[in-house]
Amino acid sequence: MTKTKPPENSAGVPASRLTPHALRGELRRNEPMARHVSWRAGGRVDRAYLPADFADLREFLRTLPGAEPVYFVGLGSNLLVRDGGLRGTVIFTHGVLKRIRMEDGAGCEVYAEAGVASPKVARFCAMRDLAGAEFLAGIPGTVGGALAMNAGCYGGETWDIVAHVHTMDRTGAERVRTPEDYEIAYRHVRLKADAEIHPSSLILPHNTRLTGAHPPEEWFVAATFRLTRGRSEESLNKIKELLLKRSASQPLSQPNAGSVFRNPPQEYAARLIEACGLKGHAIGGAMISPKHANFIVNAGDARAADIEALIVLAQTAVKQKFGVELEREVRIVGEA
Ligand SMILES: Cc1cc2nc3c(=O)[nH]c(=O)nc-3n(C[C@H](O)[C@H](O)[C@H](O)COP(=O)(O)OP(=O)(O)OC[C@H]3O[C@@H](n4cnc5c(N)ncnc54)[C@H](O)[C@@H]3O)c2cc1C
Repeated sequence: MTKTKPPENSAGVPASRLTPHALRGELRRNEPMARHVSWRAGGRVDRAYLPADFADLREFLRTLPGAEPVYFVGLGSNLLVRDGGLRGTVIFTHGVLKRIRMEDGAGCEVYAEAGVASPKVARFCAMRDLAGAEFLAGIPGTVGGALAMNAGCYGGETWDIVAHVHTMDRTGAERVRTPEDYEIAYRHVRLKADAEIHPSSLILPHNTRLTGAHPPEEWFVAATFRLTRGRSEESLNKIKELLLKRSASQPLSQPNAGSVFRNPPQEYAARLIEACGLKGHAIGGAMISPKHANFIVNAGDARAADIEALIVLAQTAVKQKFGVELEREVRIVGEA
């Protein structure tokens, strides 16, 4: 007779020993990340956790050993996981941290959790006569990913409309932070080294002790966006226009991760790559898109290594021909 193993939490501790808070989310082991990134390529992660809600996420983070690498992943639309996979734990936010609502009492503010898809925020605002979030309709990621990347297009950037963000660290401590706490630039967001922990903005869960002035790691769990009063019809038309422009210029029928490189100052990465004759160039199952040279598509069964080899090839060619260092916009994690 086979013995049924008692359910475990991520640290391999039987659930029966997890008192008083048993975890309510879903833990998966050896999860294929290709299912969760828009390139549909790459390796597996040791553990993945889909939290039930904030309280459950807090409890889960607190079960993890201090040295465990932790990654938050939204829709994986800006992420490459190498073929050898990812050691550590991924927290998936999409489909789980999914609440979105008007902020109480403030007519033009919208609260959205990290796992809400950015296009959903755009439509939610447009339907309520709120203007300023339309650009999010063209960014196929989550609120968490948009905050981490300062995602933007057509003149709008995520942090332009942020009133404040809600974060959580490894101890489960939650904070409300304002944009002043961050260094914010084109596709760049970093917590300032001297960002203070304001006692009034810190919500400490029971039993938490702060060990230093600055938390080692902190992730976005929600944001409050501040919009302006607009007209629903105008915003919806703007969204429609923007999506039409996108489908005309981007290879949306093949798996990709949007622009691979940041645009250098006063330049376009796509123009430089095209001028090196690389449009349509393929390595294994990956190809520099013939439609848009700053996109790399998975043209069949690309490995992460094929995609990364094309990234390096484009960087080398552009450096040789133009002396310009192309900086990656997409993030690469894991082992080769
Ligand atoms: C077709 C296409 C078009 C695109 N167009 C644009 C565009 O116009 N403009 C633009 O800026 N981007 C664009 N992108 C890139 C991408 O959609 C954005 O960067 C998006 O914001 C990433 O969100 P995500 O949820 O998919 O993040 P992921 O890819 O899941 O993660 C990206 C990074 O953010 C981190 N992260 C994710 N969630 C959190 C969190 N809750 N807290 C802290 N860190 C977190 C991850 O660890 C990772 O480092 C495009 C991508 C595609 C596929």
